[in-house]
Amino acid sequence: MDFSLNDEQKMMIDTVRRFIADELQPLEGGIEEHGFLAPDKARSIHGKAKELGLYAMNMPTGHTTDILIRRAFGNVYEPLLHCKGEQVGRWLQPAVQGTRTCAITITESGAGSDAAGIKTHAKKTDSGWVLNGAKHFISDGEWSDFFLVSARTGEKDISMFMVDKGLPGFTVGKDQKMMGLRGTPHLELFFDNVPLESVALLGEEGQGFKLAMGALNVVRLAQVGARAVGKASHVCELMLDYARERKQFGQRIGDFQMVQQQLADSVIEINAARWMVYHAAWMLDQGLDAREQIAMVKVQAAETLGRVVDRAVQIFGGMGFCKELPIERYYRDARIYRIFDGTSEIHRSVIAKMAMKKGAALFDVNR
Ligand SMILES: Cc1cc2nc3c(=O)[nH]c(=O)nc-3n(C[C@H](O)[C@H](O)[C@H](O)COP(=O)(O)OP(=O)(O)OC[C@H]3O[C@@H](n4cnc5c(N)ncnc54)[C@H](O)[C@@H]3O)c2cc1C
Repeated sequence: MDFSLNDEQKMMIDTVRRFIADELQPLEGGIEEHGFLAPDKARSIHGKAKELGLYAMNMPTGHTTDILIRRAFGNVYEPLLHCKGEQVGRWLQPAVQGTRTCAITITESGAGSDAAGIKTHAKKTDSGWVLNGAKHFISDGEWSDFFLVSARTGEKDISMFMVDKGLPGFTVGKDQKMMGLRGTPHLELFFDNVPLESVALLGEEGQGFKLAMGALNVVRLAQVGARAVGKASHVCELMLDYARERKQFGQRIGDFQMVQQQLADSVIEINAARWMVYHAAWMLDQGLDAREQIAMVKVQAAETLGRVVDRAVQIFGGMGFCKELPIERYYRDARIYRIFDGTSEIHRSVIAKMAMKKGAALFDVNR
């Protein structure tokens, strides 16, 4: 198994890193202070990312905030690849080209972890469908031109629809303020007899749950697992710099054993999570079913990030808690990783069920 990167991959990583350091990271402070990303700045980073061929590549490498990643790299969700015929020009191409932004819309106030328990429903009509219901916590809803919406189309069937903003009966509710991810809006959406054309149905009728779960699988690996590892690595670097520079009792704090333990544990855990991401990505590349490995990555990477940012606050002492440094923001932003795209509890219950069924073959692919 060769995990080394070829020259082209190394060049891409280098380009992304430089783009993030030069164009995105300088904007972080302003977003934190004002709570939003100014539209002219959003347009500018979007344009520059496109020029560099980075838009819609779906694998951002580097460390910056949620909203900057969304604007620079796009929200091109995998179910859109099921677009056919007229749908390609109306929804897929504009999403990939970045002329129309998309959000994924599954969660409802009564159906979060139980994503199959949704109440939003679409009824067939002579000309298409009529959509009724409500969603909440929809990331990036304000910037989005259209939404991938899961809706019940039968007692047991869930389908997915592409719903354009501005359709009659479709209203956007309040921005639900979060403890972190400043600048990314999280919206309520309401559908009151929204008329949908037949062409708005994505994939087959009744296949929406499968489409949504398939998309979340890739999101969990790339946007949650890999991103959490990237963030933890960044925070770890800051911790190491501080441990080298900060002196107390005439010594570098990095020379105190209790600080060293926190540094060593962070390095070990990040390293383990990183290899789990690579391994699950490798399995996908081989065409293997990596669902359970991705569930393990999601838990391990999210919880590693949580532990690393917690240690960072501790090692930075009062400055870790103080808003003059971004450490407290990293701490707040990290918390959501254990909740969205399937909570740690849900993934653990999937992993445990599969472990009971498959035994050690679950983690030893050669058995
Ligand atoms: C910042 C943010 C962004 C989001 N973005 C989006 C988005 O863009 N699109 C979208 O559709 N959704 C989005 N969500 C929703 C997110 O995916 C849900 O919040 C998440 O799936 C958890 O659902 P819930 O909040 O309803 O919690 P609940 O499902 O009510 O869970 C509450 C608690 O019960 C536990 N629990 C529930 N069921 C079980 C079980 N079977 N076994 C053990 N424990 C269980 C959970 O682990 C959790 O601890 C977002 C949420 C947030 C906060």
